[in-house]
Amino acid sequence: MKRRDFIKSAGIGALATSAVAVSSQAFAAKTEFKWKMVTTWPKNFPVLGTNANYLAKTIEEMSGGRIRIKVYGANELVPAFEAFDVVSRGTAQMGHGAAYYWKGKNEATQFFAAIPFGMNAQELNAWLYYGGGMTLWEELYDRFNLIPTAIGNSGVQMAGWFRKEINSVDDLKGLKMRIPGLGGEVLKRAGGTPVNLPGGEIFTSLQSGAIDATEWVGPYNDMAFGLYKAAKNYYYPGWHEPGSTLETFINKDAFNELPADLQAIVKHACKDANMDMISEFTAKNNQALETLVSKHKVNLRPLPDDVLKKLHGLSNTVVQEVADKNAFSQKVYASYSGFQQQAMKWSDVSEYAYMRARNL
Ligand code: CA
Repeated sequence: MKRRDFIKSAGIGALATSAVAVSSQAFAAKTEFKWKMVTTWPKNFPVLGTNANYLAKTIEEMSGGRIRIKVYGANELVPAFEAFDVVSRGTAQMGHGAAYYWKGKNEATQFFAAIPFGMNAQELNAWLYYGGGMTLWEELYDRFNLIPTAIGNSGVQMAGWFRKEINSVDDLKGLKMRIPGLGGEVLKRAGGTPVNLPGGEIFTSLQSGAIDATEWVGPYNDMAFGLYKAAKNYYYPGWHEPGSTLETFINKDAFNELPADLQAIVKHACKDANMDMISEFTAKNNQALETLVSKHKVNLRPLPDDVLKKLHGLSNTVVQEVADKNAFSQKVYASYSGFQQQAMKWSDVSEYAYMRARNL
């Protein structure tokens, strides 16, 4: 029937009814979702930024295009550290960052990113998925109308680049180092001066001697920044970030609007991204470390045991203070540290014992 004939033959009541039917049908059958993902990284930043792109692409592919996600680098839509609030309000549906950026919201967020002398990637995933960690994280973010998921881990980072050798605890005194967060607080208590610098200023500050040392991530990201040209002593292990969890946070209303199959796709795509990032970091750090040592002739050095012991003792105090900030932080700390105590007994006789054995 032609539209003109239809209008002629139908009464006003019938038209109104059909309009209602059409609009409610369209609502029930909403099948396509356009999301925005705001990130805390420069656009396409190696591994961290590209993981956000990977996650968006995976969700789009798995959903057959029913969810399309546009990824924004830091400052493209909003500054990096506004991502949390923007997704909480629903202006964007998804964010990509690290939970310790939001410690101003609640100190407990730090347990879901990185704790000095805390758990490594494998132990953290075990805690999150099978040890009650995820439930606590969800409980915390629910206050902000957000759903958190883990989408990656850096693995153990490097202790950093030092212009001078670190041979004793005394060498930390007066050391001016770019090291953010809890690690920085620990350095301060060891007599050093923690400095917080954005990524773009690290190289020139280290080269000019404005800072004596810096941590960044690991061989792959550190090499891309050219840090080996500014300081030759490359220390390990990254006691301050033994396995930083990266996150997405999803607006709860946006997630609840999805049909069940798309919700499952989003959740499983995040799990896939989590596995993908640690694999990429491991592969690329392997290669970069070799290049740094053989081609760029960096001095690869372990931090002395007495320095690590000192930092460990100070870290325990600093982390306990985070726990004491509020009741929820106390609860997360109890779960985290309880799991770590147990995990270490197994890690010692499995991964650690094996890694030692294969080097004999
Ligand atoms: Ca770092």
